[in-house]
Amino acid sequence: MVQIQTFVFNPFSENTYLLSDETGEAIIIDPGCYDQAEYKELTDHIAANNLTPLKIINTHAHIDHVLGIAALKRKYNIPFYLHRLDEPVLKAVKSYASNYGFAVFDEPEIDHYLVEGESVTFGNTTLKVIFVPGHAPGHVAFVNDEQKFVIGGDVLFHLSIGRTDLPGGDHATLLSSIRTQLFTLPDEYQVFPGHMQSTTIGFEKKHNPFFR
Ligand SMILES: [Zn+2]
Ligand SMILES: [Zn+2]
Repeated sequence: MVQIQTFVFNPFSENTYLLSDETGEAIIIDPGCYDQAEYKELTDHIAANNLTPLKIINTHAHIDHVLGIAALKRKYNIPFYLHRLDEPVLKAVKSYASNYGFAVFDEPEIDHYLVEGESVTFGNTTLKVIFVPGHAPGHVAFVNDEQKFVIGGDVLFHLSIGRTDLPGGDHATLLSSIRTQLFTLPDEYQVFPGHMQSTTIGFEKKHNPFFR
């Protein structure tokens, strides 16, 4: 049974997810913790629940999703996974971090390039990697078929979709990713996005204003 713990971090109100199962093994997705209090909130939760983080995996590399990676890599000595096409997005963060009020950006090394169709595992749990570009060029999402959920990043939101005005963004590509990769999942699949509340595939197919 996968437990999904959500933390809302940094001034962008970014959702960082900590997934764990009955083995105590865990995976950290899109760690956006920036200040000491946020970092402590996440690491205290991990310690209090006796969890062992195995890896950090990212949906994409915009600043709000990558702020905590380097510090967590050092603390737990774990690898960081990202799609190759989002490497330039990660490399660009340094150049604009201070514009958003982040004085220091600790750029993490990428240890593994995520590939569409690959399975990422921890404990008894498997997450399947799907490729959903448009908001970012190397954006992926993580699907769990046993419990029917998707960790979706900034692709599909409750009654909205990701912005496409950032470098590497493309509106038509984003709509196509949602139609072909997300809306082909069964209606009951729950979507845990990079911002705001969770939703379901069926609800968004019916009510999302970008698809009516
Ligand atoms: Zn983003
Ligand atoms: Zn975001």
